[in-house]
Amino acid sequence: MSACQSCGACCACFRVDFSVYEMNIEGGPVPSGLAVEVNGNTWRMRGTDHVPIRCAALTGTLGQKVGCGIYEWRPSPCREFEEGSDACERARARHGLPSLTVVLTAPPATAPEDPPAGP
Ligand code: SF4
Ligand code: SF4
Repeated sequence: MSACQSCGACCACFRVDFSVYEMNIEGGPVPSGLAVEVNGNTWRMRGTDHVPIRCAALTGTLGQKVGCGIYEWRPSPCREFEEGSDACERARARHGLPSLTVVLTAPPATAPEDPPAGP
């Protein structure tokens, strides 16, 4: 199971900007009511333009159980964001969630002791 389903940190960390051509009003997938215009070319997911950041499409409780209300229609920055990436780790750390990269270090090998010297 993806860690994303019990995370949501990146949806509450970064501005989510994308091209106007991804907007519903221009024939793209993103529903108009969930984004605001930044300028003629760029739109931004509502809720990611002020602190505390939380995308308006994010449902559930961060760090427990979350979902994207427009998963099928989410904009390209969300589609391209990679679980386990540096940005993902930064977002998780900012929300007090543990790293996804668990480095397991084996204890140093110990050489068997020399046998006792014979008589
Ligand atoms: S911060 Fe990482 S683990 Fe959390 S929802 Fe985003 S991509 Fe998934
Ligand atoms: S559109 Fe969905 S995936 Fe993108 S930031 Fe908002 S809740 Fe997260």
